[in-house]
Amino acid sequence: MDFTFNEEQRLLQEALHNFVDKEVKPKARHVDETGEFPWESIHRLGEMGMLGLNVPEKYGGAGADEISVAIFLEELGRGCGSTGLISEAHLCLATAAINMFGSDEQKQRYLIPLAQGNTLGALGLTEPGTGTDLQGIRTTARREGSEWVISGSKMWMTNAGVAGTTILLCRTRPERGSHSLSQFIVPTDTPGFHVDPPEKKMGLHGCWSHAVSLDDVRVPLDNLLGEEGKGLHQTLAVLDGGRIGIGALSVGLGQAALEAALAYAKERKTFGQPLVNHQAIQFKLADMATKVYVARRALYHAAWLKEQGQPFTKEGAMAKLFATEMAEEVAYQAIQIHGGYGYSQEYPVERIYRDARLMTIGEGTSEVQRMVIGRRLIRES
Ligand SMILES: Cc1cc2nc3c(=O)[nH]c(=O)nc-3n(C[C@H](O)[C@H](O)[C@H](O)COP(=O)(O)OP(=O)(O)OC[C@H]3O[C@@H](n4cnc5c(N)ncnc54)[C@H](O)[C@@H]3O)c2cc1C
Repeated sequence: MDFTFNEEQRLLQEALHNFVDKEVKPKARHVDETGEFPWESIHRLGEMGMLGLNVPEKYGGAGADEISVAIFLEELGRGCGSTGLISEAHLCLATAAINMFGSDEQKQRYLIPLAQGNTLGALGLTEPGTGTDLQGIRTTARREGSEWVISGSKMWMTNAGVAGTTILLCRTRPERGSHSLSQFIVPTDTPGFHVDPPEKKMGLHGCWSHAVSLDDVRVPLDNLLGEEGKGLHQTLAVLDGGRIGIGALSVGLGQAALEAALAYAKERKTFGQPLVNHQAIQFKLADMATKVYVARRALYHAAWLKEQGQPFTKEGAMAKLFATEMAEEVAYQAIQIHGGYGYSQEYPVERIYRDARLMTIGEGTSEVQRMVIGRRLIRES
């Protein structure tokens, strides 16, 4: 199998690598320390066409493939976890949902501004009382004349405070079951849509996640996304792609931790030798590099399967599981190689460690990935 990037992908990677080194990575510490939203980088990414990278050109996107999306998010992850997750939630969750299930009219109205980077998107699944168990969702959407009326609350909605367009998963039938939920396109300026201040988090300080309350939010009947009662299936399909996005960010975070550890180990001396000359340190670096390499291969293979239109749910879950746990482990070892300085905010590895920690939780925890993989294994056997 040949996974060499084609010319377009190679040029994209080169351009993004340079952009991230010049514009994103140098700001990562400031973004982390202040919790400021990285507007400048996000605007630039919009101008570069990155915020609609895999959206068809007729809907304002760049029409690129899934490998390119993985390249984009890996490079961002290498530079700044916050900027990476903002872009991932926008592109792989909200924008992807409309791209996959929207009508032509919905795409004209909502997808074009998202793909052109004129507004950001957010996806609201999780609620204060439920996350993994999506069938436990209590936010309701009821039909009243020519409108849907949405009531309830969402939790942890990434980008909700800066987004113009959100996709909300709501209950349209009272009974628990796979046909009880539907997705809706809800603009954030709709009366009754209230966003709380950003949650105070362990890491990813520049990527804002919010509790949102929905107080009789009225949207036209046309704002139903896809089919009524198909919201759970549609959401799972969106999350399949999201796993590749989070996996790519994690590969980038792991790569950044590896690069930082290698640079430090070349400089720091103990017992009259640079750290890299000690075999125990070389072994750590070798293990870290091997894990980043394997995660990257698995991730790009899943992205390739998606691009080919082949089933990729199991491979995407495997790639997400391995890449996210790899990023945490590699960042942990990078701190170890830095010794005491690894625990200091003077060096990037403690930030990378905190940022990487989310990746095994968001868009399906590691436990959920193991459930998805386990079920597929049994079904296929
Ligand atoms: C920074 C951040 C950003 C986020 N962004 C978004 C967003 O944009 N949109 C959105 O909708 N959500 C978002 N989330 C929410 C995230 O997707 C959920 O936190 C995640 O899905 C887990 O749900 P939960 O927190 O309710 O945990 P729970 O579902 O309560 O699970 C708790 C623990 O139990 C485990 N568990 C649950 N059920 C089982 C089972 N059957 N078997 C074994 N183990 C199980 C879980 O894996 C987990 O370890 C975000 C979260 C964070 C922290």
